[in-house]
This record gives sequence, C-alpha cells and structure tokens, in this order.
Amino acid sequence: MNLRRAAFGLALMMLGACATQPAPVIVYGPPVDYGPPGDARNPPQGTFQPNAYLRQCLGMSVSNSPPVDGERWVVDFKPVIVVGQVVMVAVPVNDVCLGSGIGLRGGRPHDGIDLISNPPGTIYAAAPGRVIEMRWSSGYGNQVLIDHGHGVYTRYAHLDSFDLGLQLGAAIGYGQPVGLMGATGNAEGPHLHFEILTGNYDNPLGSKGLVPQDPFSFPAYTDLGY
Ligand SMILES: [Zn+2]
Repeated sequence: MNLRRAAFGLALMMLGACATQPAPVIVYGPPVDYGPPGDARNPPQGTFQPNAYLRQCLGMSVSNSPPVDGERWVVDFKPVIVVGQVVMVAVPVNDVCLGSGIGLRGGRPHDGIDLISNPPGTIYAAAPGRVIEMRWSSGYGNQVLIDHGHGVYTRYAHLDSFDLGLQLGAAIGYGQPVGLMGATGNAEGPHLHFEILTGNYDNPLGSKGLVPQDPFSFPAYTDLGY
C-alpha cells in the first residue's frame, strides 16, 4: 500500500473523528459598522457576567427543553456560544430559570426560549451590535431587536420597560442593559422571551424573514479551541 495514500486515509479518519460536534449554522452577512477604532460610535462593553448553569423552572411543564439531570439542571449547558461568526451569551439575564424551549408549543411555533426570574431581572445585550428595533408590538409587547452583524440577530420581548440608555439605530456594547423583564404583549407573567435569529433583515418581511435558531444548539466558545 502506498504510504502517502495511507497517510491521506488516516487524515480523513481523523477529520471524521472530529465531526461529532453538530455543525454550527453557517450564516453570511457584513459585520456591523462601528466606524474606525476609537470612533465615538464604538460603544463601550458592559460588565454582565452570565451564570454558568441553567435550571428548569420548578413546578412548570417546560416544553421543548434541552436534556436536564435529576435536579432539573440543563445538561452540558453552554453559557457562551458561537453563532456563525458571532460570540454571544446563551442567556442574557442573571438568576433565571428556563420556562420554555424553542419549538412547537400547543401546536404553534415558539421561536425563542422563555427565561424567568423573581424579581424580574435586568436584561443585557447578548453580544455587541446595533439596535434596529425598539418598539411595542401586540404579541411581543415591548421588544428590542439587535443586529450583531454577519447575519446574526437577537430579540428580547415582553420587556416591562426599555433601558433609558437604549437608542434606536445606535450601536450597543456587549452586556449593556436593554431593559427590565416584564409581561407586556402576550405573556402570562413576567419573563424574557429571547430569540436568536439568522438571515438578512433587509428583506421584504423584515424580522419575520429571519430564521429562529435554538440557543442550545450552538457550540461553546471554548469548544472551538480559542
Ligand atoms: Zn416565549
């Protein structure tokens, strides 16, 4: 057997062995334009530190939950994830429990995850970006949509109020406050409805043309060997 061919076969086998992690969703798009380094449009980053673990809420039937252990902790929870080319936190609010996952719920699509804390907590930007929606809508209530560039977006819904520093069209740093958890719009109680979306916002449907993604489906930041 040709030695070079054997080496090539071995390399292919090793590639195959590395392919056990589900492939991240590949997204395309330009980065957010923050201006040149040092420009005033470059927003400062916040100090938000995500919790390392996430637990299902007690006494609720949690639809579409990722696997949990006997004490309701999400197994292999990844607090910092890589979505395409964007690094972000999977849960942008502290000390919450998981009330619902993404997927069909009561026969209707649920495009994000529900996160609950008592008292209602401050919600932070999951990654740097630009605020492209900041408004009330009948279903989402007070909602914010952030464009993180590279075709990646996050939505924060049912907010009680927007943070006073939040500005439509302005750049926002990672971990900067977005607003306070609430129950505006179609919500049974105070919670954050959090969505990760991919695609291109500049389409005829706007955010409705974006594709909701499961925050629990992405690789951890460290898994990529940084
Ligand atoms: Zn929800």
